[in-house]
Amino acid sequence: NQEFIQQSEKLNVVGELAAGIAHEIRNPLTSLKGFTQLLNHQFSTESDYVEIMISEIERINTIVGELLLLAKPTEDEFKQVCLEELLENVRMLMSAQANLHGVVINHINQQTIHNLFFNGVENKIKQVFINIIKNAIEAMGNGGKITLETTRLDSKVLIAFHDTGAGIPAHLLHKIGNPFYTTKEKGTGLGLMISKSIIESHDGELRINSIEGKGTTVEVILPVC
Ligand code: ADP
Ligand code: MG
Repeated sequence: NQEFIQQSEKLNVVGELAAGIAHEIRNPLTSLKGFTQLLNHQFSTESDYVEIMISEIERINTIVGELLLLAKPTEDEFKQVCLEELLENVRMLMSAQANLHGVVINHINQQTIHNLFFNGVENKIKQVFINIIKNAIEAMGNGGKITLETTRLDSKVLIAFHDTGAGIPAHLLHKIGNPFYTTKEKGTGLGLMISKSIIESHDGELRINSIEGKGTTVEVILPVC
C-alpha cells in the first residue's frame, strides 16, 4: 500500500510536469501545422511528404492534448455538474462516430441519475467518458453494442460502460492503463492512464473487467452531491 501511494504521488509529479511541457509545445505546434498546410498549397500537385508531415503533426497534437489533461484541476474549476445532462451530451457527441462503425449506444437505468449532481470539472469527466466510448468502438470491428448502465450507491454513483467487443486477454489485463501501453497501430496508450488519474482526482475509482471474445466493462465510480 505504501508503495502504491508513492507510485501515485510520483505519477502526480510526472503528470504535472508532462502537462506543463505539453502546454509549452502546443503553441509552436499550432504555427508549425499552419505553415505546413500553407506549404501544401504552394505545391502544384499535393506533396506526399507534406501530407506525412501534417499527419505526424496531428499525431503530436493528439498526444499533447491527452497529456494536457494530466494537469491537476484547481479548486475553482470544480463545479456542480448534472450527470444526466453530461452523459446525454457525451452520448450525442459520440453517436455519429458509433453509427459509422455500426455501433449502437444505449443507456439503461437512466432514471437512477435523474437530477443527480456531482462535484467536478465537467470537461475532464467528459473527456474520460469519451475515451472509454472511443475504446469500446475501436474494440468492435464489425459493429456491436455499447450499454451505458447507471446505478445509485448511497453517496456514490456507478457508471458502467459495457461493450460487445474483442475483450482483453486475462494475462494482459494488468497492463491496461500503463503509460504508453497500446495494442493499436495509431494508439497512444495514454487514454486510460489519464482517465484513471482524472477520476482519482475526483475521489472516484476506475476499474476494468473483460472477457476475451465477449466484451469489456469499464466502471467509473464518482461521489455525488
Ligand atoms: P489507446 O486507445 O491509445 O490504445 P488506452 O489507454 O485508451 O490507449 O487503451 C489501452 C489499451 O487497452 C488499448 O490499446 C486496448 O488494447 C485496451 N482496451 C481499452 N479499452 C478496451 C475495450 N473496451 N475493449 C478491448 N480492449 C480495450
Ligand atoms: Mg484509447
